[in-house]
Amino acid sequence: MRILVVEDEAVIASSVRRALIDQGYAVDVEHDGADGLTQARMVAYDLIVLDVMLPSMSGTDVCQALRADDDWTPVLFLTARAGSSDEAHGLELGADDYLTKPFSTVVLLARVAALLRRPRASAEQPFSVGDLRLDPRRHRCLRGDVEIELTAREMEVLAFLVRRAPDTVSKLDLVDNVWGESFDGDPNIAEVYIGHLRRKLDRPDEPAAIRTVRGVGYRLDVGDA
Ligand code: CA
Repeated sequence: MRILVVEDEAVIASSVRRALIDQGYAVDVEHDGADGLTQARMVAYDLIVLDVMLPSMSGTDVCQALRADDDWTPVLFLTARAGSSDEAHGLELGADDYLTKPFSTVVLLARVAALLRRPRASAEQPFSVGDLRLDPRRHRCLRGDVEIELTAREMEVLAFLVRRAPDTVSKLDLVDNVWGESFDGDPNIAEVYIGHLRRKLDRPDEPAAIRTVRGVGYRLDVGDA
């Protein structure tokens, strides 16, 4: 497993590198956003640990540039402030997870392991339910004939609901499966993503595509093809 670490703070970069190497990962380090992007484009990494605040190019811009290239290498963001809009913004832009500084090495390694264990969206076959068609490999979502733009995480949340349809999925199940069992952030993140998906999927004058089953969870209900 080969991991790219992009972090401008030398002390953090070297401690993250050391911790990952001790676990047997091959590690490359860059200290600048633009250099990180160049490196990420040259080597097929299994994971990128990406600081948000970087010289020359922010981590969110690096991630967005990779996703625009159709590169879905898992990205773990390192953010400076807890509860800041950076996090939500980073996740919107296609990061797979984030860690707020300061973080412990144990937590970092758990998150890295969880991301590496997770099946890559690109390995999945297309599937459909009702008039919704999902092709994670090509990162495409269609509702009827309308193409819907989804972030990496939105795609994972929707894919999980589609695979379980017509069953109801609990919030806990959703968080465990999409964010990983080691996720220790706010489980209400699931609601945030369901909200994003509803805004993208729902059509005026039609019932919501994702129903809330009170006290149980969520169920996909998109009608017939
Ligand atoms: Ca930084």
